Amino acid sequence: MQISESKRLFAHAKNFIPGGVNSPVRAFRAVGGDPIFIKRADGAFIYDEDDNAYIELINSWGPMILGHNHPMIREAVIAAMDNGTSFGAPTAREVEIAELIVSMVPSVEKVRMVNSGTEATMSAIRVARGYTGRDKFIKMEGHYHGHGDSFLIAAGSGAITMGHPDSPGVTEGTAKDTLLAPYNDLEAIERLVEANRGEIAALILEPVPGNMGLTLPLPGYLAGLREICTREGIILIFDEVMTGFRLAKGGAQELFGVTPDMTTLGKIIGGGMPVGAYGGKKEIMEFVSPAGPVYQAGTLSGNPIAMAAGLTMLNYLNSHPEVYTRLNEIGMQIASGMASINHRFGHDFTINQLGSMYSLFFTEDAVTDFESAKKSDTLLFGKYFQAMLHRGIYLAPSQYESLFLSTALTDDLVGKILQAHEESIKEILS
Ligand code: PMP
Repeated sequence: MQISESKRLFAHAKNFIPGGVNSPVRAFRAVGGDPIFIKRADGAFIYDEDDNAYIELINSWGPMILGHNHPMIREAVIAAMDNGTSFGAPTAREVEIAELIVSMVPSVEKVRMVNSGTEATMSAIRVARGYTGRDKFIKMEGHYHGHGDSFLIAAGSGAITMGHPDSPGVTEGTAKDTLLAPYNDLEAIERLVEANRGEIAALILEPVPGNMGLTLPLPGYLAGLREICTREGIILIFDEVMTGFRLAKGGAQELFGVTPDMTTLGKIIGGGMPVGAYGGKKEIMEFVSPAGPVYQAGTLSGNPIAMAAGLTMLNYLNSHPEVYTRLNEIGMQIASGMASINHRFGHDFTINQLGSMYSLFFTEDAVTDFESAKKSDTLLFGKYFQAMLHRGIYLAPSQYESLFLSTALTDDLVGKILQAHEESIKEILS
């Protein structure tokens, strides 16, 4: 496999773009080598600037649940373009998608569209603070909620990958209102609540975190959080930017039967266009301007092209429950296939998988929180990443990410992934 054009572009890009990329996780810092520059994508494949094809397990970090360049989404976008790209005024399509989201996501009674997951979480916290009149909020170690100042404290995803879980540029004043807790530990939450009684506006978490590698909630954990938040008047926010419309059509909250007060969404709602959203109980969302006093706005929010892509995607998911059956099947085939290969090579590495999300950790200990995720041998992960890449399988270039599967993966492609896995494990362990 020759990858000279990506190398040339990356060297050139570094002259004009910080680190040569527009988002840190795209760099191959944690795994070595230069990033691959992508020319196009279709179905389960992406193609680089040298025309190498890769089976893709990132899917644009989540949105391409039906695979890349799906004809239905493409046609919706092209049709919408005929009428103009942006109006900065209300449209019928925004009402339609809002109504659909409300019908699909249990906690959402009203919803506001924004342009990214980062905007969704920043806005949700502001609304929770405005609604409760309290300043502090609880965040979990290793969870990622975008790059808003108050979230860049013990943050996951690229923030850990780059070694900056706490970013310079975030003031002490901002940081002091972010209270940190380990995931999956209800006692820790009780202690924080006790020490800050009446001062905590919100508790935000990824119900099924993907940003420290995929980690699952222990039985009763989400319900326990719900109970504490209700008792203490704390707004429980599920950040379902990754899990929304992916783990089930109503997200992790539907799957685990725990309804938060607010939910943040992104990725899939845009069908690959830049979109995020936040929503929740009517009485809370009525605090958002112009209905209420908490200000939040956006020139391009509810953009007609993005809404066309999103509406098409959500309508499809809403009316095709078999998508989730198939995604679960692919997820289980990959996870169990990898587990038995690893076992044959004498290493029962931990694989966390739920539906179409999974992470392989290079540790045999259970991974249930940030501390246990950090036990993974990241050097071995880097070798594995490169071994898979050279066999035409494109993984997220960091241990601290979940992989995302799409319905474009046929049984034949799953077989190819498992074969590449077997060869890669053999190579890196020898
Ligand atoms: N929340 C979660 C759970 C995420 O995974 C991400 C991004 N991966 C964000 C928020 C931020 O979204 P965006 O990158 O669209 O700003």
